[in-house]
Amino acid sequence: MRLRVQQVSVPLDYTDATILSRAARKIGCAPAALSRPVVVRRSLDARARNPEPVYVLTVEVALSLSALPSSAHLPSIEILGEPEPETPVRRIAVQDGAPRPVVVGAGPAGLMAAYRFAMAGARPLLIERGEEASARAPKVAQFWDRGILDPESNVLYGEGGAGLFSDGKLTARSKERGLIRDFMKLLHDCGADGSVLIDAEPHVGSDRLLAIVPRIRERIIAAGGEVRFRSRLDDVIVEDGCVRGVVVNGVEMECRHCVLAVGHSARDVYAMLAARGVALAPKPFAVGVRLEVPQSSIDRAQYGRFAGSPLLGAASFRLTRKGEGELRPCYSFCMCPGGKVIGCASEPGMLTTNGMSFSKRSLAKGNAAFLVPVGPADYPEHNVPALAGVEFQRTLERGAFAAAGGGYGVAAVRLPDFLARRVSRPLPPDRSCPLSAPVEFRSILPEFVTRTLEKAIPPMLKELNGVKPDDAVLYAPETRSSSPLWITRDDKGESVSARGLYPAGEGAGYAGGIVSSAIDGMRAAEHAALRMSRAD
Ligand SMILES: Cc1cc2nc3c(=O)[nH]c(=O)nc-3n(C[C@H](O)[C@H](O)[C@H](O)COP(=O)(O)OP(=O)(O)OC[C@H]3O[C@@H](n4cnc5c(N)ncnc54)[C@H](O)[C@@H]3O)c2cc1C
Repeated sequence: MRLRVQQVSVPLDYTDATILSRAARKIGCAPAALSRPVVVRRSLDARARNPEPVYVLTVEVALSLSALPSSAHLPSIEILGEPEPETPVRRIAVQDGAPRPVVVGAGPAGLMAAYRFAMAGARPLLIERGEEASARAPKVAQFWDRGILDPESNVLYGEGGAGLFSDGKLTARSKERGLIRDFMKLLHDCGADGSVLIDAEPHVGSDRLLAIVPRIRERIIAAGGEVRFRSRLDDVIVEDGCVRGVVVNGVEMECRHCVLAVGHSARDVYAMLAARGVALAPKPFAVGVRLEVPQSSIDRAQYGRFAGSPLLGAASFRLTRKGEGELRPCYSFCMCPGGKVIGCASEPGMLTTNGMSFSKRSLAKGNAAFLVPVGPADYPEHNVPALAGVEFQRTLERGAFAAAGGGYGVAAVRLPDFLARRVSRPLPPDRSCPLSAPVEFRSILPEFVTRTLEKAIPPMLKELNGVKPDDAVLYAPETRSSSPLWITRDDKGESVSARGLYPAGEGAGYAGGIVSSAIDGMRAAEHAALRMSRAD
């Protein structure tokens, strides 16, 4: 018999023997009665009130039924039945000569949509405007080092999408446990550490993603898919409310089923969809700054006396502050422990900021966005209402680019100078983003945003006892935490105005983050597969 036992506390350097002895204690049996431990879930508990930091595990163990004591602590023990079946992959009967499904965008959503199609035998064509990861990396380095932008292959565009040069946090809030497991398993099969299968907050890191993502592409190709880089979707042909074709690099091709997974930086695609009459709707989002402080101070705040233990990774935080009177709420977002702040651009003359890390998360600083919610009432109207948020983002990004000297340096200020409304001269030399320039943030962010941040950040940082406001550096603007619009779709994932078009991932407005975008892409392929098989 196999049992699942929850809440098993073990030291950070645990072995199978420790798991068995702690699980046995939990069950109330002898350790020798247990065997074959498998960790299925792991979270870190390093609260200062513990005598030592521990992992809290959910484990599965084998036990002979006769050894199960009648006094077993049942609420934390589950007797396991048959293993959960894998999510079935629908087989699609593709007719000879029938147009293949087209997937646009090789970010997490598009890659996983193409993977799902390929596994189902649908021979997808995946097109991506940017370059493959290996060719993209030097372009990104040249952008960060010298401020030279390739508008088609950059931090946001290219194989792996916006998720490639990221922190690689694999936070999963979706309830689609089967699809999440499939995605994590694929990442693991393609080279991610086994921790992605069990950790409550898994993390991969940009260095690892650079190797993992091309292996996903190889699997798509091996299963009958085709992947074309430097291939930009220029247009979608919609006739009688149905997709009939796509235009790629100026060449028209027939297409009946198109998963549109272009991310939310592809503003030219949004404009094209609006021109084609595809239904779009404005969506609230958030803007703000990225704040960086020494990682050692975050570790002290979170781990207390355990800070500095080589067994503990770099600590993270999540902070929120309610709105008060005219002040809006503020929340931290996309924390990158032991990482660096980066500039991002996909259009010339505009710049936004973000954060990334490598697998070891061992750099000296940690950073997170501090965001303030915004909505259509905050920015000028647009003749296409859904595009008003995009124009608002552009205005902030253009202003920041110009204020920082026009060379793709990121606008930056020390927190005390931000609060005193002055420019930092000089900026701290040990900041993680060297291509940055001193700017007074009221010249680039709306007043309601800076006023909220002024009042919110100091008390929020107080919650991180040990993090000194004097050490904090802010970078701006954060504008791309989520999509400013929805490409409106129905409950089958299809555009409400263009049948055969499946808007997916972050750009569609229904997902955010690597895992949820990947899951959304898989779902889009499944919806399309169902329609394709019906059509057949
Ligand atoms: C620096 C940074 C760090 C991040 N860190 C994290 C993190 O740690 N954890 C997390 O969960 N999320 C993180 N995110 C967010 C995450 O990367 C996104 O939520 C996710 O990548 C969205 O996936 P997607 O596939 O929907 O879109 P994208 O990843 O944006 O991919 C869209 C792809 O479509 C392509 N494309 C666009 N237009 C066209 C066209 N016309 N023709 C062909 N191709 C096109 C683009 O080139 C791009 O490759 C980070 C984002 C950034 C920018």
